[in-house]
Amino acid sequence: MTTPRKVYVKSFGCQMNVYDSHRMADTLAPAGYTETTQVGDADLIILNTCNIREKAADKVYSEIGRIGDLKAAAAANGRRVLIAVAGCVAQAESAEIIRRTNAVDLVVGSQNYYRLPNMIARLQAGQPIVDTEFPIEDKFDLLTQPSRVAIAKRGITSFVTAQEGCDKFCTFCVVPYTRGAEVSRPVEKIAAEVERLAAAGVREVTLIGQNVNAYHGDGVDDRPATLAQLLRRLAEVPGILRLRYTTSHPLDMNDDLIAAHGDLPALMPSAHLPVQSGSNRILAAMNRKHTRQYYLDVIARLRAVRSDIAFTSDFIVGFPGETEDDFRDTLTLVDEVGFAGAYSFTYSSRPGTPAAKMEPVPAAESAERLQRLQALITRHWRAFNASFVGRSVDVLLEKPGRFPGQLVGKTPYLQTVQVMARPELIGSVLPVRIAGTGTNTLFGAIAKPAHAPAFAIAGA
Ligand code: SAM
Ligand code: SF4
Repeated sequence: MTTPRKVYVKSFGCQMNVYDSHRMADTLAPAGYTETTQVGDADLIILNTCNIREKAADKVYSEIGRIGDLKAAAAANGRRVLIAVAGCVAQAESAEIIRRTNAVDLVVGSQNYYRLPNMIARLQAGQPIVDTEFPIEDKFDLLTQPSRVAIAKRGITSFVTAQEGCDKFCTFCVVPYTRGAEVSRPVEKIAAEVERLAAAGVREVTLIGQNVNAYHGDGVDDRPATLAQLLRRLAEVPGILRLRYTTSHPLDMNDDLIAAHGDLPALMPSAHLPVQSGSNRILAAMNRKHTRQYYLDVIARLRAVRSDIAFTSDFIVGFPGETEDDFRDTLTLVDEVGFAGAYSFTYSSRPGTPAAKMEPVPAAESAERLQRLQALITRHWRAFNASFVGRSVDVLLEKPGRFPGQLVGKTPYLQTVQVMARPELIGSVLPVRIAGTGTNTLFGAIAKPAHAPAFAIAGA
C-alpha cells in the first residue's frame, strides 16, 4: 500500500513545461501522489522552471525562498515537505541550486523526470539528489500515461509533445544547451497518446516542440515522417476536431506543411512563426539562417493556400549591435505582415551563449524600443479582433466562463470568445456571431440552435 500524499506542480515558461508538469503528476500518481492546486497542502512541491531569459530564472529563486518558508513552517508542525526543482533552470544550474539554497531536496533535469518516484523514495531516507544527465532512454516510453479522470479534469484541449530539443543554435538562446539535441517521437506513439486523449474527451490537440516543424519521427516502415504526415494521421483520430502546432521555425516551413494548411480541414488557420527581427544584419548575427525576404516569402506561400491564416510571432529587441535602423526594419516587417499578435522581449544575455560575448545595447534604449514595438503589435492585434465584429466564426467551446451561464471558447485563429451557452455544449464547435471586443476577448452569441457534442466527455 502506498501512503496517500499531495503534489503541487508549478509551471514557468512555455507549453513544453505545461505538458511536462502534467506528465510529472501522472508519473507520481502510482506512488500515491494526487495533484493539489493548494501549495499549502502539498507534501511535495515541484517548480518546473524556465531559463530562457534572466528574469524567468530569477523568478525561480524568489519562489524557492517563498516555498522554503512554507517548508520550514510545516517542519515546525512536524510535517515533512519536499521541494524539487525541475526543468531548464535545473538543467542549467544543476547542483548550484542546492549550494545556493538549503530548502531544495531534489534537482531534476528536463529529460529525467520519469525517475521521480524512485528519487522521491530515496529522498525520504537521505541526502539531496541532483539528476541532470541526458539519459539514453526515451523518457516518453517510461512515463506513466494520465488516467481518464486526470485527462477530463484538464479540459478538452491538450498539448502533446511531438519533438524536443533544438539543433539550430541561435546565438541568443539556451534551449540547445538545456533541452539538448533535437529528437522526434514516432508517429504511432503520438497517435496512441492522441487516441487516449480523444477517448477521454479531448477535442483539440496542439503538437508542441521547441522546433516542432523540424519534426522527423519514425513513420510508416520506420521512415522519417514530416510534421504534415503526422498531422494527417492525427486528423483521422475519432473525436479530434482541431489540430494546431507550435513553435515553428521559418526555415522548416516546408512544402507539405504549407499544403496541409490548404487541404487539411482539422488544421487550424493560425501559425506561430517567430522571426525575432526584421533586419537582415541582425538575423545573421542571431544565426537565424534566413533573411527578411525569405520570411515574407514563407508568409506569402502560406497565404496562397489559406488566405485567412492568422500569423503570430516572437521578437527580440536590443540584440547586441541592433541600431535604430535595424529596429525600424522590425517595425516595417510588423506592418508588412500584419500580425494577429506577437510576443516581444528585450534581449536577455544568457551565460554560455555566443551572444553573451557581444557588446550589449544600453538597457534604456532596448526598453524604449520594446515599448514602440509593443504599441505597434497591439494596434495590429486590436484591428485583427475588430475585423470580426458582425461576423460569424466557428468557436470550440472549452470551459465555463467567469460568470454563471457563460462559456469560453476559441476561434480557429486562437482568439478567446465569451458566449452564453449550456455547459453540455463544452466540446462542440458552434458558429458564434461576434458582437464586440474586450481587452483580451471577443463577445458573441451562438448563431444557430445548438446540439450536444457527438462525443461525451469522461467524468463530465
Ligand atoms: N524555437 C523557436 C524559434 O526559434 O523561433 C523559439 C523558442 S524560444 C523557447 C521562445 C522565444 O523566447 C524565442 O522565440 C525568443 O523570442 C525568446 N528568447 C529566446 N532567448 C531569448 C533571449 N536570450 N532573450 C530574449 N528573448 C529570448
Ligand atoms: Fe532557440 Fe528556437 Fe533558435 Fe532553437 S531555433 S536555438 S529554440 S530560438
